[in-house]
Amino acid sequence: MEAVTYEALGQARYGTTADPEPSEEDVVVRVRASGVCHTDIDILHGRYGNSTFPLVPGHEYTGEIVATGASVHRFAIGDHVVVDPNFHCGNCRPCQRGQTNLCEDLGAYGVTRNGGFAEFSAVDQKNVFGIGNLSFEVAALAEPVGCVLNGIGAVDTDKIENALIFGAGPIGLLMALALRTRGIDDITMVDLDEDRLALAQTFQLGAVAAGSSELEKYAGSVDMVVDATGVISVAQGLIDYTANGGNVLFFGVCPPGETIQVSPQEIFRRQLRLAGTHSLNHNIPEALETINAIGPDISRLISHRLPLTGITEFLGHGRPAGSLKVLAVTD
Ligand SMILES: [Zn+2]
Ligand SMILES: [Zn+2]
Repeated sequence: MEAVTYEALGQARYGTTADPEPSEEDVVVRVRASGVCHTDIDILHGRYGNSTFPLVPGHEYTGEIVATGASVHRFAIGDHVVVDPNFHCGNCRPCQRGQTNLCEDLGAYGVTRNGGFAEFSAVDQKNVFGIGNLSFEVAALAEPVGCVLNGIGAVDTDKIENALIFGAGPIGLLMALALRTRGIDDITMVDLDEDRLALAQTFQLGAVAAGSSELEKYAGSVDMVVDATGVISVAQGLIDYTANGGNVLFFGVCPPGETIQVSPQEIFRRQLRLAGTHSLNHNIPEALETINAIGPDISRLISHRLPLTGITEFLGHGRPAGSLKVLAVTD
């Protein structure tokens, strides 16, 4: 089959690779839409995962079932599905406590096993979910939306009236749209990029330029402040905007080893909650509901639809200015 393969650190190529060999518990998915994620670039360069190459990357994908293993009874050929990429051991302490995304032996399709930038992918039946009437492209957002929902799960949304989200890229915007489905209407996006801010406004979100005097008006006033940039200087500034009793969510992936300074006295006195969340924890069904609740507008977060051959350059050099969610699609 045709696939993108990570051959070694920093080396991605498009070409022919062996077809997947499904087990009895697997379905074979003919991939129809597969999203590029910043994590894919981190995996290629050894900053995430266990760098066991060769590897077919891609952990945000949907498709059509074309074969089922002997033990598969819940799915049939022709079903449209999305993949939950994560698999866990079930035995370690986090798994026993239901925090499977923190499994000591966490694996994932597209990270430690072959994933979705390929014509076909063999996936355990436990890791696939029917997408109903959603399009393959929109349903390919279920994994990032699942991560967003896991993030939102770290805060008590009943106590949140307003949110400030740094980073108006696809993840920040998905965070905003998902928060709105939870009844939070006063949401403002912060970004350096004017086009992204203009896009945020078309979703009826507030938009403020990073570093502007307007942004300073938010100081000490926001119940939920989110980093969706992974930029360390942004992470450093989040507490300044947080209202007393408010929440900070570190959602962007900052470089390993970089640090910020916080004042324990301020966290104590202002009763702040600093939270982080990693990946998703069985959030795909809820993510599909959220995608339906957001409605068709969500497809405006997809900026590029490319054949599989066009994906390697996005994985190699990062994404060009103006791009949002980039998908590999096949008819
Ligand atoms: Zn991802
Ligand atoms: Zn485990």
